[in-house]
Amino acid sequence: MLSLCFLPVMQIFAFIWKNMSSLLHGIKMLSSGCWPFAAPTTTPVQKPQVQDPERIIPTSVNYHFTRQCNYKCGFCFHTAKTSFVLPMEEAKKGLVMLKVAGMEKINFSGGEPFLQDRGNFVGKLVEYCKKELKLPSVSIVSNGSLITEKWFQLYGEHLDILAVSCDSFIEEVNKLIGRGQGKKNHVEKLMKIRKWCHDYNVAFKINSVINRYNVDEDMTKEIEMINPIRWKVFQCLIIDGENCGDDALRHAETFVISDEEFRGFLDRHKHMKCLVPESNQQMRDSYLILDEYMRFLDCRNGRKEPSRSILDVGVEDAIKFSGFDEKMFLKRGGKYVWSKADLKLDW
Ligand code: SF4
Repeated sequence: MLSLCFLPVMQIFAFIWKNMSSLLHGIKMLSSGCWPFAAPTTTPVQKPQVQDPERIIPTSVNYHFTRQCNYKCGFCFHTAKTSFVLPMEEAKKGLVMLKVAGMEKINFSGGEPFLQDRGNFVGKLVEYCKKELKLPSVSIVSNGSLITEKWFQLYGEHLDILAVSCDSFIEEVNKLIGRGQGKKNHVEKLMKIRKWCHDYNVAFKINSVINRYNVDEDMTKEIEMINPIRWKVFQCLIIDGENCGDDALRHAETFVISDEEFRGFLDRHKHMKCLVPESNQQMRDSYLILDEYMRFLDCRNGRKEPSRSILDVGVEDAIKFSGFDEKMFLKRGGKYVWSKADLKLDW
């Protein structure tokens, strides 16, 4: 008899226990005023945000955190005009601001990114962007000369794409261009890095600048063998104040090729699926470039005019002076599969 009376009470307790989390959620909703019948609270109602159609979202950003480099390419268009590098904590602060403003892809560039603290500076930024900020794509552009296997062991898992610059597979031509240091062989190092990318599951990209010295070269055989996920082919670009003009550190006038010559190079390699060409016009306005002070650089007038730093005025204000052309960014295929999780690397 006693047990019969006791049964419904046990069932009630069991029911409460089983549904504890939903009940707690309900109580929380009531207290926060989300419950449909709850008394109105004093919390002001948030108005829906009206999106400014002119607002530029920094989806993909190139952060040139250093201008220092160990190479001396004659056409370099981001030269060592300062030796400044932001302290790590300041750089991280800026990266958080960019993420909040909508950044999905960050590319670290220079100068030579592996020069600072023997690659640990860029390694820590890569790790931070992937682990803490959870950016879908984190990449680096490097000349490759200072990269070691140890670096891949420490930071490789956080890196989606590594792009290495290579303008020629003829070592003599690389030397003429200025891509080299002492007796180091640029092409041999490129091959090593390609293997490490395979071993540590990092997508591998090649960037080539087509100029007076390599415009007649046929790179088909080597590119097919290396099989990069993308082969970016740029037309040598003149930027006043960087590689031309009185205040410039380089004078690239002798490296320049005509649009027709550039088309000739592209025609020779047009059967290659990984080829992504970029003419001067496409290149000039379709990148969001941040310099070593985290200032956007506007290249529209043929020279790099800086905004104020995002650390001083915020992303939204600074980006208005970036000269960024989103249509051109999309036209040049700036948005592609850029996370290694989606790339399904089959090497
Ligand atoms: S490797 Fe890149 S940053 Fe260095 S000199 Fe050459 S083009 Fe400039």
